[in-house]
Amino acid sequence: MATERDLYAVLGVGRDASDAEIKRAFRRLAQQWHPDVNQEAAASVRFKEINEAYQVLSDPQRRQAYDMFGTTGAPGDGGFAGGFGNFSDIFDAFFGGTQAGTRRGHPLAGADLRYDLRITLEEAVRGVEKEIEFPVLARCETCSGSGAKPGSEPITCEQCGGRGEIRSTRRTMLGQMVNVSTCPRCQGEGKTITEPCETCRGDGRTERRRSLRVTIPPGIDEGHQIRLSNEGEVGPRGGPPGSLYVAVHVAPHPSLRREGTELAYDADVSIAQAALGTRITVPTVEGEEEIEIKAGTQPGTEIRLRGRGVPHLRRAGSRGDLHVFVNVIVPAKLSKRQREILAEYAAEAGEEVAPPGNGGILDKVRDALG
Ligand SMILES: [Zn+2]
Ligand SMILES: [Zn+2]
Repeated sequence: MATERDLYAVLGVGRDASDAEIKRAFRRLAQQWHPDVNQEAAASVRFKEINEAYQVLSDPQRRQAYDMFGTTGAPGDGGFAGGFGNFSDIFDAFFGGTQAGTRRGHPLAGADLRYDLRITLEEAVRGVEKEIEFPVLARCETCSGSGAKPGSEPITCEQCGGRGEIRSTRRTMLGQMVNVSTCPRCQGEGKTITEPCETCRGDGRTERRRSLRVTIPPGIDEGHQIRLSNEGEVGPRGGPPGSLYVAVHVAPHPSLRREGTELAYDADVSIAQAALGTRITVPTVEGEEEIEIKAGTQPGTEIRLRGRGVPHLRRAGSRGDLHVFVNVIVPAKLSKRQREILAEYAAEAGEEVAPPGNGGILDKVRDALG
């Protein structure tokens, strides 16, 4: 095949079609051209083409590449990339959607769990191990998860013969349509229980508390999730376990602000300290640190403590900086003596300032007191 057909034309949509429009078009065409339905010789070729166009246009990255370069990004690009990749979309197109992850004739998988874990900024920077404890549906020990009373066995479902699904075929204008639905008797598991276990009442699971050690890597940020596969709920009657997602929350630090790998601190100094220079202590995640404020430091000056920020999560050994922003505070209240000295400073610098006592009655009261 020397020329590629335009993928949008294959699906019969415009180049500005939304994801939903693309999906709708794909479903409609897949139903029309599926070789099980359409007996025409060209049907399977056409169906393959439709499916391949959908694989590209339903993937935002591949669609963008196709829009920009007019190719599907396959190596050599002699044809379409992908092939019959996404079975669930084809399945969806025919049966109007099914529960994700359902494998008929097998026990259902257990649910994923989420655990919210709070840590401090210091822990996020250094990394930490945390012991967490949570309730979980675990395998029933009485029946080892089968749900059947010890001594009895689950039996093959009579209604579906263990397949977990009921198929019916009907003739339509387009040819034979096969309808597949989950067996109502065994809920797709393929087995039924005659004598349920008394501990778990046939579910195969009991609620227990589980404790786990979770390793939090250095550099983790608010909202990150750590996935622990197989630590979620087990499925009913021996179904495989889901995952545990530990959602990490980093408590705000009282004085350090974080943005990714960078930390920021606002350091207040007086006009005299900024003009004459001083040493101040700043908080870091490793404790207080003394830094120098040079004579003549301007408001907003940034002093960067390299490598005192947050480690990169995915680049070992690389760490952000701590940015200290100098805030020069102008005193709002002055003693009589301070005002005299400042007035003297202004006179020496040839600067015009308000005459003393201009502050009105309050200043006079303060003068009297001070
Ligand atoms: Zn049991
Ligand atoms: Zn059944």
